[in-house]
Amino acid sequence: MFPIAQRNSVAFLQAPNLQDFKFLTHAFCTRRGGVSEGPFASLNVTAAQGDDPVRVEENWNILSRSFGIPLRSFLVLDQVHGDEVLVVREDLSSAPDRDEPACDACVTDLPGVALCIKTADCVPVFLLDPCRQVVGAIHAGWGGTALKIAARVVDVMVREFQCRPADILAAIGPSIGPCCYEVDGRVYRAMNHHSGSERFFRSRSHFERWNLDLPQANFHQLLEKGLQGNHVALSGHCTCCNPDLFFSHRRERGHTGRHVNFIMLNKVETHGI
Ligand SMILES: [Zn+2]
Repeated sequence: MFPIAQRNSVAFLQAPNLQDFKFLTHAFCTRRGGVSEGPFASLNVTAAQGDDPVRVEENWNILSRSFGIPLRSFLVLDQVHGDEVLVVREDLSSAPDRDEPACDACVTDLPGVALCIKTADCVPVFLLDPCRQVVGAIHAGWGGTALKIAARVVDVMVREFQCRPADILAAIGPSIGPCCYEVDGRVYRAMNHHSGSERFFRSRSHFERWNLDLPQANFHQLLEKGLQGNHVALSGHCTCCNPDLFFSHRRERGHTGRHVNFIMLNKVETHGI
């Protein structure tokens, strides 16, 4: 299980295989530490589900202060359950009113850009190549997982940044677990041809129902792309089972908030020339 850490009011998880790199900041935030109320209590990062935008803005201010990251450095995506991968090549922080790019994954070698993934049951996946100093962030619900978005991000890291899969570390964050994620034939047939599918689908006793282990499905994609098994860490937390810690779209039937998960290469401090 990824352990829980705290900065100011914010409770978050860190992956053991990523937490000791001095050049890296990452967090899988929980719902704790913000100012939103009711179904959005408390560290909800989007007003799209009906939360008060003023409270959402204050939550981002809390995150910014707690981690020492300027607000404009958080790159938030307009997540659409697709498989587009954004390669971030220039510092976007000079454009504070930028639109959120419509995609579900991003990759960069630029320091000072916090790649953000919003979740409430979907799987947040972080990738790090410590040799090339390249990071990736992925939003993988069943749609993105069926499209193999995690595997696509590895391909992009290899093609665009000359990363070697054997060097890449991965952290698969908190999401709905196989304990709570029952799916129908549509989901099953979108993924049952994937390698390892016998390990991440478990048939239920009733007709056309399966339990799906989305973290395992993403784990297998990464192994298939050449990552080493001992380089991939799984959080072990189920968002649906833990209402004190996590928002869960399935548990709350859609009426809930979103956590933010982010990964960033730190800017090197320069003290004169
Ligand atoms: Zn569960």
